[in-house]
Amino acid sequence: MKFDAFDLHQDIMRAIAHNGYEEPTPIQAKAIPAILTGKDLLGLAQTGTGKTAAFALPIIHRLMKSRGRRIRALVLAPTRELAAQINEAIQNLSRGTGLKSAVIYGGVSMNPQTEALKRGTDIVVACPGRLLDHISQRNIDFSGLETLVIDEADRMFDMGFLPDIRRIAGHLPQKRQTLLFSATMPDDIRRLADDMLHDALTVQIGYKKPVATVTHALYPVEHHLKAALLIELLATTDTESVLVFTRTKRRAERVARQLSKAGFSATSLQGDLSQNKREKAIEGFRRGSYRILVATDIAARGIDVSAISHVINFDMPDTADAYTHRIGRTGRAQNTGDAFTFVTRDDAAMIRTIEQILGEKLQRKTLTDFDYTKPKDTPAQAGNPNQSQQQRAAYPASRRFSPSRSRNAGRIHTPASSRWTTNLDR
Ligand code: AMP
Repeated sequence: MKFDAFDLHQDIMRAIAHNGYEEPTPIQAKAIPAILTGKDLLGLAQTGTGKTAAFALPIIHRLMKSRGRRIRALVLAPTRELAAQINEAIQNLSRGTGLKSAVIYGGVSMNPQTEALKRGTDIVVACPGRLLDHISQRNIDFSGLETLVIDEADRMFDMGFLPDIRRIAGHLPQKRQTLLFSATMPDDIRRLADDMLHDALTVQIGYKKPVATVTHALYPVEHHLKAALLIELLATTDTESVLVFTRTKRRAERVARQLSKAGFSATSLQGDLSQNKREKAIEGFRRGSYRILVATDIAARGIDVSAISHVINFDMPDTADAYTHRIGRTGRAQNTGDAFTFVTRDDAAMIRTIEQILGEKLQRKTLTDFDYTKPKDTPAQAGNPNQSQQQRAAYPASRRFSPSRSRNAGRIHTPASSRWTTNLDR
């Protein structure tokens, strides 16, 4: 199938070509004609499937049919990163059409957002909390709204945003088109869809299953050796950008620090960072100045870096859905990717669930030169740089990192003495 089949405005066709999209992805093939009819839509699709363009393209097309400086489309997204990325995608796809899009999220000053709203915009991409602030300050006029998109509804629910979404909907014209996207359909999302959508079409793509372009492997390891294993794995694997997931914010920060000490170009992304630092970390990762980004699930939601070759689950995710979402960050569009998951004996049940979803038994892998028997450091030893003697014993000299051995161009060389602080508490 070709994009021509949708009969989209020629400016949009140019923007599609400019973005390098040759063929619609499966969700686009199904959702674009459905949305063009003006009907409501329930889209069961995970990120990484081309979902954003699937709703953005027909919305842009419909908005181009008439003009007006009122807000005519609103996209709600759960996180700032996702909102920023959707806005960027919309701006790319509406290049040359004269349409304007503005993004609204918390953690930054309201004034520039208020100004952008005053200047007039056709599309608003927003996180619910900050949008409600603007609504209560009467900064925003939704009387001309034609289309509402609720993206990643299941994640909105996880983050407690459903009441906010219902409140926002109360400020929108009742006669409108509503599109709701979710990777999963828990009962609360089903109820939200029942309330929000009327006579909706449903499109479903790859429900729950991670994208097929990803290869999965499990790395059994004792908890206290995870950081050392990560370092060894990164040293012996060809990678482009690597996204590492940890369960907690503290650990994300700590692992990134350990990787930096071991000579890798790594940074972390977690909820506590200031907006400025978050943007810097994401931008640095996107541009390749950081090869490795360590993040928690919420912080990494929606990160769109096309060159992510490896997702490494330093900690097993809490749910099978989270696994799907995490590894949806690699193998995007036509690329292939690898998902490595560190597993301890506590993770057996989750492994079974993931294997059931994938319909295959996952490969268990070990690194030949890695010492899996090394005992946990005692508190006195932990963090003591003079312990490097013992720690080095676990790594034969030939396995230690040197820039000449490194296949990771992003690696920074650091003195050997600072490389071995691999203790890790929870
Ligand atoms: P999304 O699911 O919206 O997060 O999109 C995942 C990635 O696929 C993004 O990097 C998009 O730019 C890319 N993408 C979307 N549609 C297409 C397409 N038709 N062909 C190639 N890449 C696409």
